[in-house]
Amino acid sequence: MRLIHNMSSIAECSGPEPSPSSRVIKITVVGAGGVGKTALIVRFLTRRFIGDYERNAGNLYSREVQVEGEQVAIQVQDTAGVQMTDNAVGLPDHVTCSVQWADAVVLVYSVTDRGSFDQIERLHRQVVHAGEPAAPPVILLANKADLLHLRAVDAQQGLLLAASLGCAFYEVSASEDYDQVHGAFHRLCCQLAKQPALPPGPGHAPPATEKRRSPLIPRPKSPNMQDLKRRFKQALSAKVRTATSV
Ligand code: GDP
Ligand code: MG
Repeated sequence: MRLIHNMSSIAECSGPEPSPSSRVIKITVVGAGGVGKTALIVRFLTRRFIGDYERNAGNLYSREVQVEGEQVAIQVQDTAGVQMTDNAVGLPDHVTCSVQWADAVVLVYSVTDRGSFDQIERLHRQVVHAGEPAAPPVILLANKADLLHLRAVDAQQGLLLAASLGCAFYEVSASEDYDQVHGAFHRLCCQLAKQPALPPGPGHAPPATEKRRSPLIPRPKSPNMQDLKRRFKQALSAKVRTATSV
């Protein structure tokens, strides 16, 4: 099934420009190929899961939603799968541009693909580097949690990695659970919406530091072992955060 042609609600997603009065929240989704980036975006914005998606990964989706009582235009940039090989010097240019454009980045791996998990740390470093001087807030999504028999990465490993990166962590299934996916994105949108709105108008391009600095979303930071242990203990006692708590 072809994404664009068969889904009327996708047309809605990639449709009209946000009304000038709407606050715009921009999110870029990054991860290895096949981890479910497109599936997650489509699920979040349309509630639907389609088994097969177009290879074209450059789509920008947008939709107006209510976030904490405010009308907000959410724009989500899909990106091509990134493979952080040992020889890779950085992110592909189009991903760097998408990171610099975004208010926040969603890093995705699949629990069935160990390689997609193993490259997250490097990917995160590159995202932080691309976003300098003020790195965008990042959340970590582990997708395909429904594929129990194919699982190659434990939830605890994802949780520990997220703690070391200073990110929120969600384990979700784009195919099985809309609420989880919606909750992860929605929570991020709520945090971004709490940041002071920038003045509207074309060409307004605030310095990245002004745009992204917020006390509400923890900045990524270098792991410190004691802090890491404390966070891991906290995280384990709280178990994996799921969207249903939003
Ligand atoms: P992308 O390359 O990261 O954009 O990945 P896609 O969104 O194209 O998904 C790759 C494949 O994984 C497709 O066949 C999807 O149907 C499948 N897929 C995506 N999310 C899930 C999920 O949560 N569970 C299962 N079982 N399959 C999924
Ligand atoms: Mg895709």
